[in-house]
Parts: sequence; structure tokens; C-alpha cells
Amino acid sequence: MRFYSTNRTAPEVDLAGALLQGQAPDKGLYMPRTLPSLSPELLARARDLSYPELAAHILGLYAEGVFSHEELEEICQDAYNYPVPVEQVDGKGHLLRLDRGPTASFKDFAARFMGRALGRLVRARGKELLVLTATSGDTGSAVAHAFLGVESIRVVVLFPRHEVSDRQRRQMTTLGGNIATLALDAKFDDCQALVKQAFADPDLSNLGLTSANSINIGRLLPQSVYYVHAAARLADVAGGEQVVFCVPSGNFGNLMGGLLAMHMGLPVARFVVATNANDEVPRFLDTGRYEKIVPSLKCISNAMNVGHPSNLARIIDLYGGWMDEQGALKEQPDLDRLRRDLYAVSIDDERTRRAIVNTYHRHGALLEPHGAVGWAGLEDFLSACPQQSHMPAISLETAHPAKFPEEIRALIGIDPELPESMAGLDTRPEHHRGLPPDYTAFKDFLISEYRT
Ligand SMILES: *Cc1c(COP(=O)(O)O)cnc(C)c1O
Repeated sequence: MRFYSTNRTAPEVDLAGALLQGQAPDKGLYMPRTLPSLSPELLARARDLSYPELAAHILGLYAEGVFSHEELEEICQDAYNYPVPVEQVDGKGHLLRLDRGPTASFKDFAARFMGRALGRLVRARGKELLVLTATSGDTGSAVAHAFLGVESIRVVVLFPRHEVSDRQRRQMTTLGGNIATLALDAKFDDCQALVKQAFADPDLSNLGLTSANSINIGRLLPQSVYYVHAAARLADVAGGEQVVFCVPSGNFGNLMGGLLAMHMGLPVARFVVATNANDEVPRFLDTGRYEKIVPSLKCISNAMNVGHPSNLARIIDLYGGWMDEQGALKEQPDLDRLRRDLYAVSIDDERTRRAIVNTYHRHGALLEPHGAVGWAGLEDFLSACPQQSHMPAISLETAHPAKFPEEIRALIGIDPELPESMAGLDTRPEHHRGLPPDYTAFKDFLISEYRT
């Protein structure tokens, strides 16, 4: 399988090249040249396969010549050692809980695959890697946990000091070892911009930089798997029975995983795309004009406070258009098809809070702010498009409520139970340093700490 750049000038690479480079040299994002098909046999078996088995089969479609099936099975057995429950909430409405991994967000799915895959590639090549990651809340901890102790790989995480919850911060700052964390008085988008600038800086080219943000294709492919897993539990997917998914979205990597699954043949009638008040994508689908939101708005679903999602360039590419790395729309995608596949809606904090309260009192289901944006978006869709309401609908719960105890306590007066993986978190010592939000300071830090 070859991967091309959305900016169309960088040479094509295989999966190893795409994983190791992160962003393509022309600043585009890697995309698979052809989308493999989920065979009817695989779809028919999906319900009976364990999650790691299903993941190894699907990822194997992209990894030919890079990882053998046995290697992928090993990676996936090791990475996916936690449950992936699909819960019925109300009639056709379900929740896919993606919060049972070690850092209690869906980012564990991709980060744990990437850490193991990159670890193997680096061992085989004998070249050190420096992984740079900007986080709006959950990527940093998932990546830090997934890469902790991996030989020859070091990780630097940049986070917006005032926009992550206490527990989100502690999950990344209490590790130490090969993980460095930098707190910036800035927005997530500023952190992401610094990381992108470092990749493009020829002075840093000898540091072996790569990205563990969702600009790296390794962060997307594993996110196709749970869509197949969940749909196969609720519908006869081999017979073409359709489902609806609702995806709370910020940088649109999660949605991109779902779109890949759909374009590989999973029968999905519609993706409901729910953003918080950062509504640049719903507005784009509405008007065909794209405008970033600068600076991004601060909402309680903090991991979705993104004013210019980096994966939008991939979605536009998948639908025949071209968006460059600045967010300029150079060629319009097929908007009619995009609107047929996606129903986009923006949910503000007030509706998010109401969804947390209502789903708890009406259905006994505890949501955190991101999952609540999704659930509210699904309700919006079901009343706007009743003709699609007869099929199973699956809303993704992307984090565990215990990551946001202050909000939950204020709204419904309970303390979400702490998952085992987070026990002891509140008292471990933290290590992080502050960094001014300017590129020179960041570059000096990288050179003084990591130049060999
Ligand atoms: C990262 C994150 C999101 C947004 O996912 P994208 O792939 O960036 O759209 C939603 N919810 C939670 C809890 C997250 O950590």
C-alpha cells in the first residue's frame, strides 16, 4: 500500500515512511492511494472476532510489506487489552464507550498502536526518533503512556496550561522518563502551529522528528476498527444493513477513521458530526465557505476546542477537493456527496450540560462533556431526519467521566467512579516546565535538550 500527500508533490511512501515522517515533506498529509475493501467474509466474521483479531485484519490491509500478520496480531493483542463496550441507552440509540484504555480516552486506541508500531520500526532501523505532540487535553496523555519506556524514542508534549483539566494534566506530567511536558500560556492551535513549524525547520532535520498528532496516518487507521466492531454488533453489516454513527469532533481524526471504514465498505447511512461552539466545519458544510476560528473558543469539551482542524484537509481530499496546510480551499470537494454522508451540528455548552443531566436522569447513562456533545448532536439529527431514525444509532463516548469530575459534580452532584488506571493519580508528583508561546523559545529548547 502506498500513501500520497494531500499537497500532491511529495513522493509516495509505504506505511513505514508515513509513520516515521508524520507530515509529508510538502506539508501535506498522507492518504492511502487506494482504499482497500472490507471483504464480505471479514464483515460476516467481525462480530465473532475479538477486538485485537479484528484490528489485525483491518490494519493488515494497509501494512503489506511493513508488518506481517503475526506482527500485527502481537501488536494488537498487546495494545487492545481492554473492553470496547456497546451499550444500549434508549431504543435504537447506543453508546460506544471508547474510554476503557489506560488514559481513559479514545486516543488510547491509536496511540497504543502507534507506540508499538514505531517502536518496532525504530528497532529495525537503529535510528532515534523524537516525537512532538500538541495536545488539547487527551492526546498528550495517551501518547505519553503509549511511548513511555519505548527504547530510542523520546517524546515532547506541548499543552495549553489553562485549557486542560487537572486530571488530564496529571496523566501526562507524572510519568517522567523519556516523556517531557511543556506548559504554554496559549491555545491548542498555537501549540499545534509550533509543532508544525518545527517539522518544516531544516535546522531541526537531524533530530529525527515525527508527529503523534492526528496529522500522522498512524493515528487514523486504528480508529477505523471500532466502527466496524460496533456496527457488526448491532446490524447485519455483511448483508448491507446500515447504521448511523455520531462522532463528537475537534481535529476530525476520529471522524476520518469512520469515513475510511465507510469508504472501505462498512454500511454507514450517515455520520452525525457534532462540534462544540467551534463550528467552522458545520458552517463550511452549510455554506461551502471555510473560515477558521481564531482564537478557538473555550468550551467545556476542551479536547474539541479546535478552530482549524488539521484533518479537514484529508476529508476534503477524500471527497475530491484540495485544502492546503494553511486551510486555504484550493479546489472545492464534492459538497453534495459530503452533505449526503455527513450531518454536521454545533452544540454549545448549555446544550452540552443539559445532555449530561438528561441522559443521566432519563436513562441512567453517565456522559462527560465530549460524549454529551455527541449525544445532543444525535438527538438533533434524529429530529431533523426522522426517515433515518429506524436504524441502529451509535454515539461515541470518547472519554471517561472521571476525567471531568468538577463538571459532573456541579451538574448532577455525584463523583464519577475513578477507573483503576487512574488510581493514585491525584497525588503523584508532577514534572513539567513552562515555555513562552513563541517559536524561537521552542526551537532553543529542542536543540539544547535533544541535539546529539
Ligand atoms: C481528542 C478528543 C476528541 C476530538 O477528537 P478528534 O479526532 O480530534 O475530532 C473528542 N473527545 C475527546 C475526549 C478527545 O480527547
